[in-house]
Amino acid sequence: MATAEATMNSSEIIELFGRYVVPNYRRYPIALARGEGSYVWDTEGNRYLDFFPGWGCNLLGHCPEPVVKAVQEQIAALIHVPNTWYTEAQGRWAKALSERSFGGQAFFCNSGTEANEAAIKLVRLHSPKQRYKIITFEGGFHGRTLGATAATAQPKYHEGLGPLMAGFVYAPFGDLEAVARLVDDETAAIMIEPVQGEGGVNIPPEGFLAGLRRIADEQGLLLVFDEVQTGCGRTGQWFAYQHFGVTPDIMTLAKAICGGVAGGALLTTPEIAPSLRPGMHAATFGGNPIAARAGIAAIEMIENENLLENARNLSEVFRRRLTALVAECELIREVRVLGMMIGVELSIDGTPVVQGCMDRKLLINCTHNTVLRLLPAMNLTEQQVHDGCDILAKVLKEQTG
Ligand SMILES: *Cc1c(COP(=O)(O)O)cnc(C)c1O
Repeated sequence: MATAEATMNSSEIIELFGRYVVPNYRRYPIALARGEGSYVWDTEGNRYLDFFPGWGCNLLGHCPEPVVKAVQEQIAALIHVPNTWYTEAQGRWAKALSERSFGGQAFFCNSGTEANEAAIKLVRLHSPKQRYKIITFEGGFHGRTLGATAATAQPKYHEGLGPLMAGFVYAPFGDLEAVARLVDDETAAIMIEPVQGEGGVNIPPEGFLAGLRRIADEQGLLLVFDEVQTGCGRTGQWFAYQHFGVTPDIMTLAKAICGGVAGGALLTTPEIAPSLRPGMHAATFGGNPIAARAGIAAIEMIENENLLENARNLSEVFRRRLTALVAECELIREVRVLGMMIGVELSIDGTPVVQGCMDRKLLINCTHNTVLRLLPAMNLTEQQVHDGCDILAKVLKEQTG
């Protein structure tokens, strides 16, 4: 296995950042050097079990072999060509995504926020002129560019940025009546994560997404699913909407779409797609051959290695282990699991739990202060699930005192 030559230790690297990198991230004082499957190593050679690989991007673990091979092959043949040309890779990638979703067409970009910007533009371009408003949901997350920030109904992400882009109205997640009340003759679309990720792994109440579909159909609105976090196999289905039997008009993807390589996409029906007409939208690197080859390789790997099924099986192991903990640990309020998307809601701030796990070489995340979030790789082994759950259980019990 290849290793990038490490020439600096963690503290030297951290010093570089202090001097030369914009301090817009809170980082852990660890520099990572390589990864393989669900393990990563820091520059000092410590090994961590990673239950949050790449913030959800490394759904196939670190450096999945078929993705590495496809990228290595492609990068020596053609790194980038603009979208004024055709490439086989982009065409095959679009076909692969279309065939596993609702038979639509793809627009490619490089990130989740970009995919959502494309969706917002497409909604406005496709809708009658007076319709421009998009209903989004409290606790939702759609990205960091200004349109996606306005779509994100969380005041903490708006602070100091105003005036925000107009045209977004917010409804409580799960409240169909509120949505129905918000619709007026300027409403163009409803946009939602089928399962809220950053918001704390919030699974929609029974019938909620179907209700949104019904409102959209009755009122002539577009239904947009942001599957940036839930898509591409994360939930044990190709796309989360397939759990709920509700098909969107527009779906956005990124994070895990290229097995860890940067990429993003919007999928929509052949009827809606032409509204994103030439000259109105573009992404210079969108659908580039490297991302496309990585994206195809990721899909093939999931199928060749039966990883959707593996994710569903391991999901049940997580569910069993974590719900068993509820009885032993009074800090746990609720366990929410859909495939490889796992939230453990605590009655306390989760920061010391994340730190305690890290001290024991397990990497997890905490969102919205109290929700431990795991987004493990779908090719994790059952032994690794148990190893990680053992550590988490120990740390949680210590917190109980
Ligand atoms: C992470 C995320 C985004 C933003 O994706 P970026 O690639 O960071 O721009 C958008 N929507 C959801 C649901 C996400 O989880």
